[in-house]
Amino acid sequence: MVAKIIDGKEFAARVRGEVAAQVSALAGHGQPGLAVVLVGEDPASQVYVRSKGKMTVEVGMKSVEHKLPAETSEAELLTVIADLNADESIHGILVQLPLPGHMNEDLVINAIDPAKDVDGFHISNVGLLGTGQKSMVPCTPLGCLMMLRDHHGSLSGMDAVVIGRSNIVGKPMAQLLLGDSCTVTIAHSRTKDLADVVRRADIVVAAVGRPEMVPGDWIKEGATVIDVGINRIDAPEKGEGKTRLVGDVHFESAVERAGAITPVPGGVGPMTIACLLANTLTAFCRSKGLPEPEGLTV
Ligand code: NAD
Repeated sequence: MVAKIIDGKEFAARVRGEVAAQVSALAGHGQPGLAVVLVGEDPASQVYVRSKGKMTVEVGMKSVEHKLPAETSEAELLTVIADLNADESIHGILVQLPLPGHMNEDLVINAIDPAKDVDGFHISNVGLLGTGQKSMVPCTPLGCLMMLRDHHGSLSGMDAVVIGRSNIVGKPMAQLLLGDSCTVTIAHSRTKDLADVVRRADIVVAAVGRPEMVPGDWIKEGATVIDVGINRIDAPEKGEGKTRLVGDVHFESAVERAGAITPVPGGVGPMTIACLLANTLTAFCRSKGLPEPEGLTV
């Protein structure tokens, strides 16, 4: 079997198009606003923040960026967050992680108004998701779920394995799959026989951060593989000093066995910002007492 390639770039463009259409249709109620707060000069974070801002404007939303120096104190950052919490033109607040070492990330994230926490990392949203209540859902797992629902329709009764138990991907992903009535296994660095666990799964979500650690022969024939991992490796075949991106799954062998698979790059990655915009629209609608945007929330 050769897998269907799930095109995340195309899917994300569709989601952004849907967000833009709804933003325009709701113009009479005001304009959704997203604020991104970046502390320090981490180059990768700067790139993310720039593309988030660009896409926010492209879908017709207001985009606000707060770039603070690395030596900003925690108290100063908390003041910025309090101001954004109180700002009625802002419906979504995202604090770009990681924060500099002198800051308590949990404390900062939990200072965001949960209704504006478009990353879904606030403890209230984590609790709401865990108890099956309406919440803000972390963007990357939300994107994965959208792709799975689009491919399968119902996920009910499927065996799913999530490799990785981080708070931003693995755990919320497992909650979402459970919410869709999958039988969920969460595997991690201490899992005894990972190959055996993966071989039983109809759905594999890999979120580890280890290049190509899941070989194709672990994949059950016809399974759906969602590869969240983004790993940069040397690519001497492209020339001296060149690199390329790979996922946590060995794509070339897995594509021969899976029923469907997301590539890296061009799979899960583009969905994350699209879901951030979808969450901002959801937060806007909730703040106005409007119906939630269809197909863009859980
Ligand atoms: P993390 O480092 O916080 O968590 C990694 C998890 O992998 C841990 O729970 C750990 O237990 C598990 N793990 C480590 N070694 C393992 C092993 N040998 N076998 C099984 N499990 C193992 O990482 P994260 O933030 O969840 O990110 C995971 C990957 O996803 C990274 O490559 C990251 O770059 C990528 N990512 C992509 C997006 C996106 O937009 N596509 C978003 C977030 C993260």
